[in-house]
Amino acid sequence: MKGIYVHIPFCRVICTYCDFIKEVAKPKRHRRYVEALCREIAMAADRLNGATTLYLGGGTPSLLDDDDLRLIFDAIAEVILPASLQEVTIEANPEDITEAKAALFKRLGINRVSLGVQTFHPDALRFLRRTHEPADVFQAVLRLQTAGIMNINLDLIFALPNQTMAELRHDLDEIVRLDPTHVSAYSLIVEEGTRLKTLIDQGEVTPADEDTEADMFNAVIDTLTTHGYTHYEISNFAKPSCESAHNRMYWENREYVGLGVGAHGHEGNRRLLNTPRVKDYLERLENHTSPVVADDPDEGIKDTLIMGLRLREGVSLKTMHTRHGVDVFTHYPALEKARDNGLIEVVKGNLRLTHKGMLLGNEVFMIF
Ligand code: SF4
Repeated sequence: MKGIYVHIPFCRVICTYCDFIKEVAKPKRHRRYVEALCREIAMAADRLNGATTLYLGGGTPSLLDDDDLRLIFDAIAEVILPASLQEVTIEANPEDITEAKAALFKRLGINRVSLGVQTFHPDALRFLRRTHEPADVFQAVLRLQTAGIMNINLDLIFALPNQTMAELRHDLDEIVRLDPTHVSAYSLIVEEGTRLKTLIDQGEVTPADEDTEADMFNAVIDTLTTHGYTHYEISNFAKPSCESAHNRMYWENREYVGLGVGAHGHEGNRRLLNTPRVKDYLERLENHTSPVVADDPDEGIKDTLIMGLRLREGVSLKTMHTRHGVDVFTHYPALEKARDNGLIEVVKGNLRLTHKGMLLGNEVFMIF
């Protein structure tokens, strides 16, 4: 099992909270980037062998025009059998999903779409600088389903500044009404270098406090699990058989190849990183040079634990022993204290976060 991640760094506007690698660029730049990406795909042909999942993330991949998307999928089909890809996901903004775009996704073999919904409150959407209206989400889901794409993830952000519990409950009601197969729900994180951080530093915005965030996270968990979703990863919820196979590869610390600007990969026992600057990425590929700028040894034990503990079932202690040759409690003695404090537990041979540990995950992750 192996995954392919493809990064598309373009966005229509830059969201208030975003620290991903992205830029606002003209379509001409999109084509130049796509051509460079296709070159990287061809160069990576051997490394892509055996891939079973493909994930186009960003940025906003749905922003690309039809020909650009076709070029990417054609380049991938040149090096691997499209039929070997069991899960093909694209991240999309709701306003990009026209009937024609949904039909194109289907023709390209995309069978999972992750929609950046975030909230159903128009004022909050404007504050976040999202460019859709709540009604666009309903239309997008309907168009995707009509095109035959039933596996749909909705991204939700909670603990927004001044958000009330009633507003979050409205967001959750709308999500439940749409009945997607998967929901990713994240609390708003204040990242350095974002407009959100500036607004907070200037005193114009007050972030949600920790208690509000915890209450909201509990409301998200309660609502979604009551409506048939399994809480299988700290921030992810799925209907039966609809967990994200691609993201599971990250959480299980398996292999994936990262393509595109700033993309990370995990290949063999190496961690690879592509150049994070679009200009540098373009120049390297146009000169037939690898975009990889960092090639570090896998941190093995630490990565397997940090990623695996995000999953509800946690990490198999037996696997830690056979894969990394360690007893984790001996390797990290501080885990005993976390167990005494009710943050972690061992259930059926798996080390996992408790409910309290899910709320206070960082206290556990700091141990590593
Ligand atoms: S659309 Fe996504 S990647 Fe682009 S600015 Fe907004 S959050 Fe960032």
